[in-house]
Amino acid sequence: MEGKVFNIQKFSLHDGPGIRTVVFLQGCPLRCRWCANPESQSPAGGEKCRVETAEGVLRVCLQDRAFYEESGGGVTLSGGEPLAQAAFARALLGALGEQGIHRALETTGFTNESNFLSVLPLTELLLFDIKHWEAERHRQGTGQENGPILQNLRAALDAGKDVLPRIPVIPGYNDGPEDARGFARLLGGLGLKRAQLLPFHQFGESKYAGLGLPYAYKDVPPLHPEDLEGFQKIMIEMGVDAFF
Ligand code: SF4
Repeated sequence: MEGKVFNIQKFSLHDGPGIRTVVFLQGCPLRCRWCANPESQSPAGGEKCRVETAEGVLRVCLQDRAFYEESGGGVTLSGGEPLAQAAFARALLGALGEQGIHRALETTGFTNESNFLSVLPLTELLLFDIKHWEAERHRQGTGQENGPILQNLRAALDAGKDVLPRIPVIPGYNDGPEDARGFARLLGGLGLKRAQLLPFHQFGESKYAGLGLPYAYKDVPPLHPEDLEGFQKIMIEMGVDAFF
């Protein structure tokens, strides 16, 4: 089984518990206006994208098994949207599972129901990105509806999966008090009690020029946790433990 991979990052501490290897799969059905990895979006991929076998990626991941065991870590599949290559993601997750490696899937949730359900038994933790709590604003920011995303989120919760919602907090898009309330209502209504806030950063800015793409967030200052104290407080007061 082969798939397209645009990066493999070792020793990550930010994408699930412990020390992790993050495997970034090519392709994403969303077009978030602030995307920090625009090179990941096209199914074809650019210069950095390589065709890899599931066995080859597994071998790279297993090189750090001792670190996973020591730290309670494992492997995270990310993207792009990893389920844009669902068969490859399944093959990789299955092979990691056979080796007893903890598996996290960082997903937008934007995929069809059968793809989504097929990876649930192959995943210990879902890092589930939620870009906006309101349907029309979601479409404006990402180019896609949030209906299938919320349906898949519910399916994961119904299946009893460990889900950590992650909210990229974007200036002028979803960073107001009404947004904090909207996210808390949405997550609380689903029985979710915590969410990770990912403040907007500018790590992707230089990539847009290289790709010849327009960038809507050029020169927009990044956000820091201290900028989001009010946002965080509202969510916590409404019963969702928002953390960074
Ligand atoms: S979901 Fe992620 S990779 Fe896809 S466009 Fe949005 S920010 Fe970029």
